[in-house]
Amino acid sequence: MDFYWDNNLFLGKCRLAVDSTRTRQAAFCSHAHADHLGRHGITLCTPETEALARHRLKPKRAIFRLLHWCESFDWGDLRLTIYPAGHCLGSAVLLAETAAGRRILYTGDFKLTPSLTAGAAQLPRADVLIMESTFGDPRYRLPPRQTVIDQLVSAVRTAFERGQIPVIEAYALGKSQEVTRLLSDAGFAVDQAPEIAAISTIYEQFGVRVGLRNIITTQDIPDGNAVLVVSPRTFRHMETCGTSAPDVLRFFRIAVTGWANHPQTVRRLGVDRAIPLSDHADYAELWTAIEQVSPQEIYCTHGPFDFAGTLRQAGWNATTLEPPTARR
Ligand SMILES: [Zn+2]
Repeated sequence: MDFYWDNNLFLGKCRLAVDSTRTRQAAFCSHAHADHLGRHGITLCTPETEALARHRLKPKRAIFRLLHWCESFDWGDLRLTIYPAGHCLGSAVLLAETAAGRRILYTGDFKLTPSLTAGAAQLPRADVLIMESTFGDPRYRLPPRQTVIDQLVSAVRTAFERGQIPVIEAYALGKSQEVTRLLSDAGFAVDQAPEIAAISTIYEQFGVRVGLRNIITTQDIPDGNAVLVVSPRTFRHMETCGTSAPDVLRFFRIAVTGWANHPQTVRRLGVDRAIPLSDHADYAELWTAIEQVSPQEIYCTHGPFDFAGTLRQAGWNATTLEPPTARR
């Protein structure tokens, strides 16, 4: 059996768990977002992901088997090699080669084009492609990156011109650091909430400049000269926090998300502006990735159910992974 899917992916006869949030004897972790992270006997990941996982999970006993780019090693009946995924610090795609020589590529979350805080993905050729397909809907063909950056800078300028404080709402790992670096490079002072700043420190430890000015807590009163980068949860806390409450009407809320292309996103998130800055492959990049890998079989995860059907219409042998599924 090359792989098995039971609400979680397992590779090889050795049943190596992949991106499991449940505790396993051994698991590969592609990156340190919560929906890919778990407490395992042995976690296989990059040094960056180890640092982020230790920060986020604070495991008392943990064994990490560190993986390095493009270096192969044997695990059970598999030969494993990782390549950059271009998603966030330390994110990796995994190539697993079976004893019979079948090459299985698992992408996890990935993005082909580089950003200032994550390099470009490298996707090797494989026989089987197991890919995250979050934006597997043509609606999520996102604008060119520079256009999106211009939209972000313009939104921040608009806020300052109106005498409001721009608040960027982004998740703590990846997007927050990218936005901070983009705006810092554009000449803005950028402050971050503590939980974001702690992750930014890990980025800096691994040589990725973020460009943070200050850490600002919910007890602080923003000085009005800087952009604030916070998680949505932190902002809700700021809204209800006594010291910040008088400033609520002065905030101009900007969400940065690939879902910005959905017409309901601004209203659903309760923000003033939504910018389609994504750290996932958009619809066009998903197709480009498939062309690069040139697989005989494709298994889609995390995306719209229709995407595999669209791929089949285009001549690809594609399936949406549904539990339970065993292959070979
Ligand atoms: Zn992710």
